[in-house]
Amino acid sequence: MFALLPTTTLQMLRFPLARRRRGKMWLLLAAFAVGLGAHFSAAAAEDAENGALTEVPLAQLSDRALTPLGQAALGIRAADWRHAESANFIYHFFHGFIAAPVSVEAEFYYRVIARELEKDTTQWERKCHIYVFERAEDWAEFQKRGALDPWTGGIHAAGSLFIQRDPQVKWKGNTLGHEVTHLVVERFFGAGVPLWLNEGYAEYSATRCYAAFHRARGYAARPTSRAVPEGMYVPVGQLTALIMYPQDVAQVGVFYSESERLVRFLTAADKRGFGTLLEALSKGNRFDNALTKGFSSRFMNLDALEREFKAYAIHENGAPLQD
Ligand SMILES: [Zn+2]
Repeated sequence: MFALLPTTTLQMLRFPLARRRRGKMWLLLAAFAVGLGAHFSAAAAEDAENGALTEVPLAQLSDRALTPLGQAALGIRAADWRHAESANFIYHFFHGFIAAPVSVEAEFYYRVIARELEKDTTQWERKCHIYVFERAEDWAEFQKRGALDPWTGGIHAAGSLFIQRDPQVKWKGNTLGHEVTHLVVERFFGAGVPLWLNEGYAEYSATRCYAAFHRARGYAARPTSRAVPEGMYVPVGQLTALIMYPQDVAQVGVFYSESERLVRFLTAADKRGFGTLLEALSKGNRFDNALTKGFSSRFMNLDALEREFKAYAIHENGAPLQD
């Protein structure tokens, strides 16, 4: 399950109090690396504690079972990888000041997304491996070795996450939240969730989490959502039946946007109904049957959903954004 290469999906205004700090102190408190200063909330402090990193040798990690893709990643500039752990994740990285904020975000997203889906994470003891690339050429080499599409900006595969974090880019975007969402969905709903729902929910959840993460740290931030160009709109019956990503790159973008809008639309229509639909689809229900289970009092049938949803999907500013 992939994330697209980063796009500007979030507008932010910095509060004057917030100050970005970066430096050699990452071992002391991971929180400093994302610029919290003394102005962070209790929740943010808890995340910082959960995400605090201590570097350990590869041989001393609590879980050294690497997937084939993980082994391929560590084969790129093999001597330069470093390793650390937090409560729920194991990190493979090149620089501590890059990995520390990743750990704070990853723990935050994991906790918030699982709570949103009403899942208890405490019973899941095995940690998730995150591989953090920095250089574009290393990421390109990883794409090649993993036979990934060139538009791939991050990937969740077999319970491991692979992302790129460019030290020169200030706002890191939704990719990490997107991939952590895939992790949570696969852990707690299994591998049967349809493609549109997996990607649509990851997009929807990631933009909300990314905004929430920064709001908790003194930034004004809100989630965003992309409209679907009317001429490229795909009927719901077709969208929800896709089992592979579109071949055409432009269609890939539309697929992600429309899937996100459909999740947003259904969640706004009836949050509990959306939960029922997600459970039903994860257990192999066809879309029309899952829709009936979750939304029988709201949409008479697929056609009724289609009529309302299309207007919502293509409307540039009409989608009410909830956070
Ligand atoms: Zn994805």
